[in-house]
Amino acid sequence: MRAQPAASHFVNGEWLEDTAGEVIEVIYPGTGEVIARLHSATPAVIGAALSGAVAAQAAWGRMRPVERSRILMRAVAIIRERGAELAELETLDTGKPIQETLVADWPSGADALEYFAGLAPTVTGETIPLGGDFAYTIREPLGVCVGIGAWNYPSQIACWKAAPALSLGNAMVFKPSEVTPLGALKLAEIFIEAGMPAGVFNVVQGYGNVGAALATDSRVAKVSLTGSVPTGRKVYAAAAAGMKHVTMELGGKSPLIIFDDADLESAIGAAMLGNFYSSGQICSNGTRVFVQRGIKEQFLTRLAARTEAILAGDPLDPETQFGPLVSAAQHEKVMEYIGKAKAEGARLITGGAAGNHGPLFVQPTVFADVTDDMTLAREEVFGPVMAVLDFDSEEEAIARANGTEFGLAAGVFTADLARGHRVIAQLQAGTCWINAYNLTPVEMPFGAVKASGVGRENSRAAVEHYTQVKAVYVGTGPVDSPY
Ligand code: NDP
Repeated sequence: MRAQPAASHFVNGEWLEDTAGEVIEVIYPGTGEVIARLHSATPAVIGAALSGAVAAQAAWGRMRPVERSRILMRAVAIIRERGAELAELETLDTGKPIQETLVADWPSGADALEYFAGLAPTVTGETIPLGGDFAYTIREPLGVCVGIGAWNYPSQIACWKAAPALSLGNAMVFKPSEVTPLGALKLAEIFIEAGMPAGVFNVVQGYGNVGAALATDSRVAKVSLTGSVPTGRKVYAAAAAGMKHVTMELGGKSPLIIFDDADLESAIGAAMLGNFYSSGQICSNGTRVFVQRGIKEQFLTRLAARTEAILAGDPLDPETQFGPLVSAAQHEKVMEYIGKAKAEGARLITGGAAGNHGPLFVQPTVFADVTDDMTLAREEVFGPVMAVLDFDSEEEAIARANGTEFGLAAGVFTADLARGHRVIAQLQAGTCWINAYNLTPVEMPFGAVKASGVGRENSRAAVEHYTQVKAVYVGTGPVDSPY
């Protein structure tokens, strides 16, 4: 098998296997070939990972921040040196075109590690004058953090969670989605090679029950999940019972509003990026594209032409722009949504069928005349299916864009920048773009409002979510006591 790792788990700086765990077959979505066979973590593996993390965190948390950063920077250098090899593994794990994995997945993970390696040593407390006496604060690590990942950006998600957690002195036990378990194991290996002490970053494989066991363990101080809203509700509730910190990065049905004065080709390019990149399997995608009525037919004609020119095919071919979905289950789900959209009366502009490059392909698909009550406008598809909705006025677009329980992302295209800012200010979303879409540089906070999540990843904002404040009052005179 061409991507078989040395063992299923990486715990306490070493590979660890326990064949008593349920088998996980790792399938390359490009061909359906089994590329690795792993085992889900048993209670013994979960226990070893958590106790190793607790032990390692004590010393890691006390280390000078610049020393921790130096190790993270060595990991960044290794990731960049091995970019081609890591991109190939990511493509085998996810089926995403190598054209994408070379520039988006590990490179974005390396950016996060680099950013937090630089930022962490600058994180300090404050002194508070109290007229003689004073107080000071210390920003302390939380302890052991659990990271639970989705399958769409497995290595990026592992890095985005590890970077703030580890740089600020926490240890982590990470559970990837069982659909894409390989990238996180590479990250664990790279950290050890970079000089990180054993036990600071551990990877255990498994299905949802392993995530649940981690999220409820009393040794865990924080749970950071990237996944769907239903899973988020369960994990958040489990964490709350143990009074744990959480970050929840969940699903969306984000609006992309295109006004009639927008640069049409840019708006179409952004709508395509926000629906077809990674075969549409991106949480922040602008899957409700609101187009002002006057430019609708022109928009659809150019969109159809450009969509039909997308090059689908072998994900490992550098020319390929569009790959398969991640799994048979996801393929079935997306085809069902396409069937429902047709049945509910949406107008198919292009695509709408399974692709002919392999069993897991779906054609890039556009539906027009979508109305707010259709399933396609309400539920997250997580596939290459764009819904185009018409609107007349700014007020109408804002109200309809907000008419959802989701609140992850939003975008506006207009030549009138005053309008761009005015509209964005009224949209209920955590991550927004004006005349751009889906760009998520590490310098910018990433996160959601409403049911799409709590907390923020990336940027200085993440510091709040991986540290806690200790306040210390210092008395400088005799104690004034009435007793
Ligand atoms: P899921 O919610 O199905 O799973 C997410 C992770 O949680 C998986 O590792 C899963 O394990 C685990 N899990 C499942 N049940 C539990 C439980 N009870 N306790 C603890 N862990 C559990 O999401 P998908 O993997 O299907 O990913 C797609 C979803 O992720 C979409 O909704 C998408 O929008 C969202 N997403 C959000 C992003 C964001 O940053 N906001 C980014 C990327 C994706 P297992 O897979 O083994 O069941």
